[in-house]
Amino acid sequence: MLAHKASHEAVMCIEAIAGKTVHPIDVTKIPGCTYCRPQIASVGYTEARAKEAGYKVRVGKFPLLANGKALAMGEPTGLIKTVFDDATGELLGAHMIGAEVTEMIQGYVIARTGELTEAELSETIFPHPTISESMHEAVLAAYGGALHF
Ligand SMILES: Cc1cc2nc3c(=O)[nH]c(=O)nc-3n(C[C@H](O)[C@H](O)[C@H](O)COP(=O)(O)OP(=O)(O)OC[C@H]3O[C@@H](n4cnc5c(N)ncnc54)[C@H](O)[C@@H]3O)c2cc1C
Repeated sequence: MLAHKASHEAVMCIEAIAGKTVHPIDVTKIPGCTYCRPQIASVGYTEARAKEAGYKVRVGKFPLLANGKALAMGEPTGLIKTVFDDATGELLGAHMIGAEVTEMIQGYVIARTGELTEAELSETIFPHPTISESMHEAVLAAYGGALHF
């Protein structure tokens, strides 16, 4: 029930009809967004779903209360949570509540699509001052390395 999924599937359908090879959609790589206030956005496995699927997980959480841009915007309510596969470091899922998170989730969607790991995300440089810095912090938090909380 997502417009972007329907649109993507439509393109795949036409490409298949035109004889192109299309890759099946992986539903764990589709962003879900709720435009309430604060906004909600997520991609991939929740912690519970990952455990059900047999993964041993590492979880990171970072509150927007500890992010300077969120404070300056007067939007301190929110949280970012990451779920990693403990065995490989792959990002399994990410869940965000807060200002502009529907704009930021795409960063984690690209990470899911590219099957990026904690190591690559930790080394990624995020711009300052942005709420997106909390995405980095939530990655670092999963491995005990958050800087501002
Ligand atoms: C109020 C509302 C808000 C939404 N908000 C969001 C949102 O913010 N973000 C998001 O990602 N998704 C949202 N969605 C969901 C999203 O719109 C749908 O998931 C998406 O449009 C589904 O696309 P579709 O092509 O499968 O179907 P549709 O977009 O429903 O297209 C089906 C088309 O087929 C036509 N049709 C039906 N029967 C026949 C027939 N017998 N002959 C010929 N034509 C026919 C219909 O007229 C329609 O044009 C929202 C949905 C609603 C109802």
